[in-house]
Amino acid sequence: MTANSTNIKKGKVILVGAGPGDPELITMKAVRYLQQADIVLTDRLVSTDIIKQYVKEEAEVIYVGKQCRRGYSTPQESINSYLVEYANEGKSVVRLKGGDVSIFSNILDELQTLVANEIEYEIVPGVTAALGAAAYAGIPLTARDYSTAVRFLTLYKSDIVTEEYWKQLAATTDTLVFYMSSETLNSVVENLVKNNIAADKLLAVVEQATTPLQTVHVTNLYEYTETLKGRTFISPSLVIIGKVVQLYEKFAWLSNSGSKEHYFKPVGKIDALTQEQQAKQAS
Ligand code: SAH
Repeated sequence: MTANSTNIKKGKVILVGAGPGDPELITMKAVRYLQQADIVLTDRLVSTDIIKQYVKEEAEVIYVGKQCRRGYSTPQESINSYLVEYANEGKSVVRLKGGDVSIFSNILDELQTLVANEIEYEIVPGVTAALGAAAYAGIPLTARDYSTAVRFLTLYKSDIVTEEYWKQLAATTDTLVFYMSSETLNSVVENLVKNNIAADKLLAVVEQATTPLQTVHVTNLYEYTETLKGRTFISPSLVIIGKVVQLYEKFAWLSNSGSKEHYFKPVGKIDALTQEQQAKQAS
């Protein structure tokens, strides 16, 4: 593809949050932009139903998922160059991200690229996984008398949180929500227990939140070794820690699927169309 020539009007890029899984948890604005889009660059953690239902047939859908540990991942630079390339061709581009666009996503890289290339953009928020999981597990994150605030955190690498911060996290009455941390859960629990987290705070792991395959595991942190340690959680999983997790038992309204199936297909195995498009990307 060639660079923009002066007589083509640049297209616009819309950065859109698709919600956490349930395809109905998408905004009307996101739907409208998807229906208009010529190009959709989508993450892995987006329901394929959203693509099938709203994207027009002539539009091109490019899967740019990141799933580093499984060995397939689209480098951020490629995503950035797609955005520029297609916008310069005058296309209307939707960059679709799981959950909300601003929570643990690479939106900053993309915004910098768009600004540097003088490409117009808009940002459409979405329901982030923490809010989806809280709703579908019946765990109100800041329930009165249980918690006064909520923190969104991550521990995908063990050095992200400092010793001092662990002390604070163990002591706070804020609800803690950890993204991308089910594989480092042992370390999360160890650090909180080491810093004497109160025993009335519980831990919930919500697998595949808001999808028909949602499963919630709840444990006391001091019993974690017997209950959940060593378990492999199905991706994506979210961890909620705090007194509010006590409310799960009473207010859960969705039964656990207990399924080992994956709602979000692994990158590279989405469907024939995707593979064809991936081949196109690679060429
Ligand atoms: N921008 C996204 C988060 C991207 S980081 C958002 O706002 O939700 C990816 C992490 O989000 C996953 O590792 C997992 O911790 C969490 N996540 C996303 N979708 C989820 C889902 N349906 N169920 C549980 N966790 C989810």
